[in-house]
Amino acid sequence: MSADCIFCKIINRELDADIVYEDDEVVAFKDVNPAAPVHILIVPRKHIPSLLDLEKDDEPLMGHLHTVANEVARKFKLDRKGYRVVINCGPDAGQIVFHLHLHLLGGRPLLQTIAKGRGV
Ligand code: 5GP
Ligand code: ZN
Repeated sequence: MSADCIFCKIINRELDADIVYEDDEVVAFKDVNPAAPVHILIVPRKHIPSLLDLEKDDEPLMGHLHTVANEVARKFKLDRKGYRVVINCGPDAGQIVFHLHLHLLGGRPLLQTIAKGRGV
């Protein structure tokens, strides 16, 4: 828990979010400013600021975040047409929330998303 982190506040129910999945390690909720028809953020309960802060002990957690992404993708019926998973790390990647998260994007063709410069 980091006192001034908005994702920690969402995880602790101090801030509202549309939560679509949760378990002991992970919470997933809808992005407030979606870049695609389905745009879910998949977030560890543990406050890890960015990919650069990952430690060896976090490897199982990173795997779990990806299997949760698959489960949420199926829930939103993205498994047939596909989806994109993105992690932004640091300023040049456009990371604005420094609590590690996966973006799960789908529901439309995403081929131009990165080229258009939207940060996910
Ligand atoms: P980043 O650029 O750090 O990878 O992405 C952060 C994402 O968090 C952005 O897509 C942004 O729209 C989303 N976001 C920022 N603040 C909030 C919030 O308070 N609630 C929700 N649900 N999403 C947020
Ligand atoms: Zn946090």
